Amino acid sequence: MAKSRKKNKTISKYIAQERIVYLFKLAKNELSQDPSRSHRYVTLARKVGMRHRVSIPASLKRNLCKKCGSLLVPGNNSRTRLKDGRITVTCLVCGEVKRYPFRPSKTELSSVHPAYDPHY
Ligand SMILES: [Zn+2]
Repeated sequence: MAKSRKKNKTISKYIAQERIVYLFKLAKNELSQDPSRSHRYVTLARKVGMRHRVSIPASLKRNLCKKCGSLLVPGNNSRTRLKDGRITVTCLVCGEVKRYPFRPSKTELSSVHPAYDPHY
């Protein structure tokens, strides 16, 4: 009995994760036509995550405003700038500014600058 319950929990978490990804996809598609519906999809995705204790994938979380909860799409409702080694993302809905460090990986650097040697 206990064993099957544990297995169900794993399955429900997997389904929840799948639903979150799908809801984010819907939210992105809907943003240009109906921003309020897009916001609703994001709210649902967060609720699903909370209900099943599944975290929203980091790649999707970066496109999310912490303050107002809207999906951030550059050129639509967010502004992205590179400054002092940091990426600054401004939400154009509520004005919240997100900053995170920017460090290109060594392979990216060597492809941009052929002279770049990772050993120095
Ligand atoms: Zn915002």
